[in-house]
Amino acid sequence: MPVRPEIDAIAHMMSEWRRALHANPETAYEERETAAFVAGLLEQWGIEVHRGLAVTGVVGTLRAGTSPRSIGLRADMDALDLEEQNTFAHRSRNPGKMHACGHDGHCAMLLGAAYHLAKTRNFDGTIQFVFQPAEENEAGARRMVQEGLFDRFPMDAIYGMHNFPIIAEGDIVVRPGPMMASADFFEIVVKGRGAHGAWPHTGIDAIAIASEMVLAFNHIAARTIDPLQSTVISVTKFNAGHTTNVIPEIVTIAGTTRTFSLEVRDAVEARMQRVCEGIAAAHGAEVSFKYDRRYPPTLNHPEETEIAAAVAERVVGKARVLRNEPPVMGAEDFAWMLLEKPGTYVWIGNGPEHQGGCMLHNPGYDFNDRILPIGAGYWVELAESVLSRHTSEGVAS
Ligand SMILES: [Zn+2]
Ligand SMILES: [Zn+2]
Repeated sequence: MPVRPEIDAIAHMMSEWRRALHANPETAYEERETAAFVAGLLEQWGIEVHRGLAVTGVVGTLRAGTSPRSIGLRADMDALDLEEQNTFAHRSRNPGKMHACGHDGHCAMLLGAAYHLAKTRNFDGTIQFVFQPAEENEAGARRMVQEGLFDRFPMDAIYGMHNFPIIAEGDIVVRPGPMMASADFFEIVVKGRGAHGAWPHTGIDAIAIASEMVLAFNHIAARTIDPLQSTVISVTKFNAGHTTNVIPEIVTIAGTTRTFSLEVRDAVEARMQRVCEGIAAAHGAEVSFKYDRRYPPTLNHPEETEIAAAVAERVVGKARVLRNEPPVMGAEDFAWMLLEKPGTYVWIGNGPEHQGGCMLHNPGYDFNDRILPIGAGYWVELAESVLSRHTSEGVAS
C-alpha cells in the first residue's frame, strides 16, 4: 500500500534498522546498545538528543518555526526474556532474549518518521521523540514520568502505537476510552490450624476457608461490579498441603485482576480485601492480603483519539481504520503516560498471516516490515497535522 512516496522510499532503511534491532534484543533497563543506536541516528539527523532518562531512555527534540505547540510520539525499545525459534538471518544473537513483541518495529517506525520530519521540517512547533525502556513488566513509562519526562520535555499530548498480529496488515485500530486493562497481582496467605485429616474439628481448615475466598472473588466480579464494566479476577495459584491425611496450616492464593476503569480497580481491591478478612474472621483464621498495583488501564482521551482517527484515515483510507474493535484484557505501560497527559494509543495490524500468524510473545513472532512505512507515515501525518503550519489552532480537521 503506497503511503507517501518519500516515506515509501525509506522503507528499506527502516527495514535494515528493524532487523538490526531484532538481531540484538535487550531487556528492561539494559537497552544500552539499542539506545545508543537510536540516539546516534537522531543526532546524525540534527535532532537534539537527551540520554539516560529512566536509565536507558532516549528523548529526541525537533523544533521548527515559532509555535509553542508540542507533541510527543512514543516507541518502546525493550525485548523479552524468551528464546527465539526463528531461523531467519536477523534472528536474535542474544541467547534467551528476543523481540517477540515487535518493539524493534516500533523503534524503526519512529526513527523513520524522525528522519523524514528532520529533513522536511514541514511543521510549526516541537516534536518530542520518546524512546522508552522497559515496557514489559518493569513500567519504564512510569519511571520516565517520575524522572520528569513531561517537565523536562514539555508536550501538549502524547501518542503511542503497538503492532498487533490478529489485525489485517496495515489496518489501524482507534478507539476512545479503554484500550487495554489494568493488570494487578495479589497474594493472600491464609493461616488456620493444622490438624489430623480424621479430626478436622481440632483444627481450622485453611483449605476450606481459602476455597470460600476463591468463590467469593467470582461473586465480586459477577455480582458487585456493573456487568458492562468488564472485570477479571483470576486465581492462578493455590498452594497447600503435602499429604493425604494432614490438614495444612497455611494456604497461599495468588493471581491477577483486570479492569478498564480506575474506579472499578479501586472497588475490586477493596472488596477482595474485605471478603478475605471477613471470611477469615468468620472462621477464626488469620489472613494476610497483599495487592500489588502494577499497570493502570490504558485510557484514550477522546479529543486526541479523534485526531488520530482522522490522521489514520488519511494514511490508510477510511475502510482500514477500525473504530469498533473491543479493548483487550492485556496491559500496556503507556497507560502511565495517558494518566498524566492527553493522548491516545492505537494498534497497527501486523497481518494474521505474517510469520504464521503467531501471537505477540510467541517464540516465532516477527514484526512485519511491510507495515513500517504505514506506521512511519502515521507518525509524520500526525505530527504535521497537530503542528500544522496552516492552522492557528493546529488541530487536524
Ligand atoms: Zn509485550
Ligand atoms: Zn509490546
